Amino acid sequence: MAASDLINLSGLLDDAKCFALVRQHRWPEGARCPVCDSSAVTRDGHDDTQPYRQRYRCKACAGRFDDLTGTVLAGHHQPLRVWVLCLYFMGLNLSNRQIALELGLDGSDVQIMTEQLRSGLVAKAPAVELKGEVEIDEVYVVAGHKGQPDEVAKRGGSDGAASW
Ligand SMILES: [Zn+2]
Repeated sequence: MAASDLINLSGLLDDAKCFALVRQHRWPEGARCPVCDSSAVTRDGHDDTQPYRQRYRCKACAGRFDDLTGTVLAGHHQPLRVWVLCLYFMGLNLSNRQIALELGLDGSDVQIMTEQLRSGLVAKAPAVELKGEVEIDEVYVVAGHKGQPDEVAKRGGSDGAASW
């Protein structure tokens, strides 16, 4: 008997805390616009179907976005708590097959999820147009030596870009 027959783990997770987790890792110093990177954003209500998914409006470019916009977590039919659990199981070194069993999901679905999660919980989705530009910004922030390309080069340029 699979563990999922005994306990429905995802049903025990708190949606509010899952979204808070994403916000904390994505924007440790407060929400930023995924389009223009401005921190001048205001809260703009919540998602119609997901009451804990915060929406924002950017004062700089007038863009609208929410907690998951531009991440691998956006646009998927799995609830956020299933993604969080999937990530947790990955940390326990469970195989895709075991994770699929635990979550009651299709093996091929789980394979896609784990592949995307390996690049980070809130890494940019491959389809996002600004991907390259945004990653360069993150590398500079991590290196902490904006304007000192030698220092940045020494750091290898990839550390931290997609970790969480
Ligand atoms: Zn903006």
